[in-house]
Amino acid sequence: MFESLSSKFSSAFSSLRSRGKITASDIDQVCNEIYQGLLEADVALGVVESFIEKVKSKSLSALPTLQSGSNQAQAIFDIVNAELIAILGGEARRVRLAKNPPTVIMLAGLQGAGKTTLAGKLAKYFKDLGDTPLLVASDLQRPNAVNQLQIVGESISVPVFAPEPGNGVGNPVEVAKGGLAFARSKLHNIVIVDTAGRLGVDDEMMKQASDIRDAINPDEILFVVDAMIGQDAVKTAQAFKVGVGFDGVVLTKLDGDARGGAALSIAVLTGKPIMFASTGEKLGDFDLFHPDRMASRILGMGDVATLAEQAKKALDGESSARLEEKFVKGEDFTLEDFLEQLEAMSKMGSMGKLLSMLPGSGAMKKQIDNFDESEIVRTKAIVQSMTPQERIEPKILNGSRRARIAAGSGRKVQEVNALVDKFSAAQKMMKQMRNGGGMPPGMALPPGMPAAPRMGKGPSTPPKKKSRSGNPAKRAVEENS
Ligand code: GDP
Repeated sequence: MFESLSSKFSSAFSSLRSRGKITASDIDQVCNEIYQGLLEADVALGVVESFIEKVKSKSLSALPTLQSGSNQAQAIFDIVNAELIAILGGEARRVRLAKNPPTVIMLAGLQGAGKTTLAGKLAKYFKDLGDTPLLVASDLQRPNAVNQLQIVGESISVPVFAPEPGNGVGNPVEVAKGGLAFARSKLHNIVIVDTAGRLGVDDEMMKQASDIRDAINPDEILFVVDAMIGQDAVKTAQAFKVGVGFDGVVLTKLDGDARGGAALSIAVLTGKPIMFASTGEKLGDFDLFHPDRMASRILGMGDVATLAEQAKKALDGESSARLEEKFVKGEDFTLEDFLEQLEAMSKMGSMGKLLSMLPGSGAMKKQIDNFDESEIVRTKAIVQSMTPQERIEPKILNGSRRARIAAGSGRKVQEVNALVDKFSAAQKMMKQMRNGGGMPPGMALPPGMPAAPRMGKGPSTPPKKKSRSGNPAKRAVEENS
């Protein structure tokens, strides 16, 4: 996400950090580099100019105090970070729930922006929070939109109100009204209305969207926009703002090679917050939009907060606590535990996405892009082909067992051997860490993976076992030390 912009910021700051005392001309230079970077990322000129002006004036006025400090470049970095957060909208804004349910959310935007996909993502998001969403199929225009919504709804067990077949047939305003009445009668507390888009902004489309708006009086109108279209997204947003009006923006396709133009321009130019970000085609590739986390990514500091949240979600509390306890008690970490963690990792999404949230991931871009995602699948297949006993006691894995596992998982015996060897080495390392204190169990890592941050709660270091002397006098000294 925004790699080239991020590398511009990184290079601007690395040259600033290499200076001893920062001067006004250093500030000019860093501002010029950032200016160029933002323009290349297709950020709207007005937004870039006002951003640079603020950064420059704040940095220059801080210069006299800053020059006496020890970390001058960091002080400028903090100013840039704060201004980036501001243009991204300041604080994350959540959906405002209606005082009297249901809360009605209407989606609007061009065809192909990702509205129907988003409807499913939002429904899943609310369902996971314990709400009872209803999806309403009011996009009767785009071929297959109704059917697509039904399939999405079915996959997450969320009902879909779809009385019309779509593909040009049916009245979308009536469907929206009917959906709302249905939700009231069945006590759904959230209603998500998918609406039709066109390939470009047109009057008929705006009229239909505003008729739906007037019929259902939504609590939130979310404008869904493809971040890949850069600054054009802002033009479309402005047309929708006039034609229909909206309360918040959802940026989709942030996983693609979006340069950042839409994300960095839209909140300032529309005066509306970005509320959600969509980062893939899968229903889980979606999150609340946090301006501070996005700024952190752009500045090359990663997004560890999101990573930790995802890990917590994937590794349920019970298994996390059990592993922690095992670790503290000194029990062996088994292949059974390893498999459980591999499953959790798969739930968290692609390894490439996870790694890209780590600080400094920009510099590892090549390795991340080349990461072989199927390694996890292959490793899982091998462990799954073992019996429970073998997973607990890998020692019993003799030649014939290994051959059976290889055949069962469709892998070579050498791969089974390599996995068992690496696992034994990792197990040994865990033991050493436990004895020496330090690293928590966190996630067991499949071969070749970098360390993941700590997961779950509980003490970060297990109690260190002190050796106790058999000599009472010595022991008294040890215990008092
Ligand atoms: P609609 O016409 O606005 O309802 O758009 P759709 O929901 O049908 O999405 C259009 C296409 O974009 C589909 O192929 C989706 O799978 C894809 N899509 C939607 N959101 C994302 C996203 O965040 N990332 C990526 N890569 N593709 C997306």
